[in-house]
Amino acid sequence: NGRDMVKTMVLEVIDTINPMMSSSGSFDEGISKCTDKIQEAESIDDIIEVKDFLVGEMNKVREHFHGMNDELEKHRVPTETLSKKLEESEAKALVDSLTNVLNRNAYNLKITQLVREFKRYKEKWALLVLDIDHFKKFNDKYGHKTGDQVLKSVAGTVTNTIRMSDSVFRYGGEEFVVILSRVDSKVALQLAEKIRKEIERANYLDGDKKLKVTVSIGAAVMSEKDSEITLFERADKALYRAKKNGRNKVVVDI
Ligand code: GH3
Ligand code: MG
Ligand code: MG
Repeated sequence: NGRDMVKTMVLEVIDTINPMMSSSGSFDEGISKCTDKIQEAESIDDIIEVKDFLVGEMNKVREHFHGMNDELEKHRVPTETLSKKLEESEAKALVDSLTNVLNRNAYNLKITQLVREFKRYKEKWALLVLDIDHFKKFNDKYGHKTGDQVLKSVAGTVTNTIRMSDSVFRYGGEEFVVILSRVDSKVALQLAEKIRKEIERANYLDGDKKLKVTVSIGAAVMSEKDSEITLFERADKALYRAKKNGRNKVVVDI
């Protein structure tokens, strides 16, 4: 009869919306009560009462989802800002904050990659260790702040002198490492000399006063026998010789 047909229809509706209700939390209890009530329903009025209850529950669910959407929307912008900040801080972790050139972390990553690539492609490159001459005296004479300015300027001069495919890192206090790509020892010497001369030529200013700044450079070209450690050691020993030979000099380890 007609009443049973309506009952069946309402039960079908309940079955359809049931999974959605239970996934949205606190609503499934009311729904299972509906199933019982429909089965016990004696009159059309009983059925209408259950139907109205169902509609009410559905509205609550809709509001619930609506609120969730607002909540999500509220967090969207902060989340975007956060991931941008995260990217920025990742980049910052590779850049020296005083001189704006790559830092020691970046050097460690790069050298490992270059040594690995060398084993495969055999393309020559050189490592320069560059150290500012008598920088302790310089600081004592002009102050640490002027010293910092000079560090920035020296980093800038090196950056402007090397090619796009080369890179400069602040390795420590007043020491920089330069990686020269695709060079043999002859070209490495020429490029290191160019860097040394550019720094000697540049005018570092303390107010109106011109300050003399020079660097010593040790260089080594990557070879089959080298690891990142031995390559650095060879360049560092060459630097030591450049210092001993009177500073403001380049020495290439052969
Ligand atoms: P050398 O010619 O043998 O390299 O002499 P040096 O005085 O440069 O060498 P040393 O290693 O004895 O001293 C390095 C000095 O560099 C010590 C420190 O005062 C200075 N220095 C290191 N880091 C910084 C920095 O971030 N800012 C400033 N202003 N000075 C620094
Ligand atoms: Mg030093
Ligand atoms: Mg020094």
